[in-house]
Amino acid sequence: MTRRIPEPYRIKMVEPIRQTTAAERRLALEQAGWNPFLLKAEDVYIDLLTDSGTGAMSDRQWAGLMMGDEAYAGSRNFFHLADTVRELFGYAHTIPTHQGRGAEQILFPELVKRCRGERPVFLSNYHFDTTKAHVELAGARAVNALTPQALDTGAAYDWKGDFDLARLRDILEAEGDNVAAVIITITCNSAGGQPVSMGNIRAVSELARARGIPVVIDAARFAENAWFIRRRDPAYGEASLADIVREMFSHGDMFTMSAKKDGLVNIGGLCCFKDDEALFRAAQVRCVPMEGFVTYGGLAGRDMEALAIGLKEGLDDAFLSYRIGQVAYLGERLREGGVPIQTPTGGHAVFVDAKLLLPHIPPEQFPAHALACELYLEGGVRAVEIGSLLLGRNPQTGKQEPSPFELMRLTIPRRVYTNDHMDYIADCLIEVKRRAAAVRGLAFDYEPPILRHFMARLQPA
Ligand SMILES: *Cc1c(COP(=O)(O)O)cnc(C)c1O
Repeated sequence: MTRRIPEPYRIKMVEPIRQTTAAERRLALEQAGWNPFLLKAEDVYIDLLTDSGTGAMSDRQWAGLMMGDEAYAGSRNFFHLADTVRELFGYAHTIPTHQGRGAEQILFPELVKRCRGERPVFLSNYHFDTTKAHVELAGARAVNALTPQALDTGAAYDWKGDFDLARLRDILEAEGDNVAAVIITITCNSAGGQPVSMGNIRAVSELARARGIPVVIDAARFAENAWFIRRRDPAYGEASLADIVREMFSHGDMFTMSAKKDGLVNIGGLCCFKDDEALFRAAQVRCVPMEGFVTYGGLAGRDMEALAIGLKEGLDDAFLSYRIGQVAYLGERLREGGVPIQTPTGGHAVFVDAKLLLPHIPPEQFPAHALACELYLEGGVRAVEIGSLLLGRNPQTGKQEPSPFELMRLTIPRRVYTNDHMDYIADCLIEVKRRAAAVRGLAFDYEPPILRHFMARLQPA
């Protein structure tokens, strides 16, 4: 038997959490319009809504907060952060932002401005939801070219985050000058936190560069992606994580990062450029009115210090082995209990295939969302839908598009829950599976026009 990796830390401060009764949970969910996003966090026992900004900082990061230099301009913490970016990624220019979407909003309009075509388009393995929203707000289209291997959740495949290179090539040919940028999302969140191989990153970058198209890395989970490359690609079995990160980023021209994931902070983002000084300056100009002055971008000095430290802690081998091992452990428990999940498990979450678990619920009644509601009712565990509700309607036709996935994401915050929590989550979900046939779909009470999953109100159909 392989020995399970225990938490590579000791706990020196605790935050009590409260279990609720079944009756309390039903009332809370009804008041939240059958949308877990609208629950009060205090009514949640184990919160797996997201791994974004929900991690625990280390003693060293908390100490770093005390070293905050809150000067309006030129804070020393900014320079520490920019130096760390240069060291880890090899990028010369850093703009801090309040979070990942802050980076998107100062960068994408500039990429659209530079685009020579009439109908700008961004191509990605899979656009994250706010990324797609910012592409569309900038007046462009968002097109995905994900490997079809990702859609078969039962099939074991190492690189389910990869681009479908043939499809990417076809779109590049068809769109010509319209392509504003190629966005490589590492890991691919929407496909299940699945890694993108180094070979695929390299090939995508070559295709784009041959046509003079900029390559943006959406870098939220860069460390987890590097860990998978070392674990799964024999060519990198002996490489250091730092070297793998350097090589991944050598294939990009700029990156946007939500630092709330692998950056191990509760708030923060980055918009960085390898050497394109003109684009860097243009994004800086946009940063000032949108995010804040260019050396703080919406962050306090102390936040930048915690991030500079967190970027390195997030790349620590012992931490990553434990973290990704914990996600795999939850996946293993569920698989043993007969719950269908995206295999192999990814870096930050276990994705449950609701299409397979609740085949009687059609996409327009949101099977994965119904499953998340049921899991909350069962044990106070909050999960999130990645499926038709998230995808939304086609902006041109107003029609509900069929989502390639109907997944429920159990997202594991970093350094927050123990393996005992994982056992409890698995027990609850296996119980829900036993009564799956009785779970009902949901219908809208209120449907917001954009990013509807956050604010929608629903009821049993
Ligand atoms: C979280 C995330 C973003 C957006 O970042 P925020 O910090 O939430 O604004 C963008 N892309 C990916 C892949 C993400 O996971």
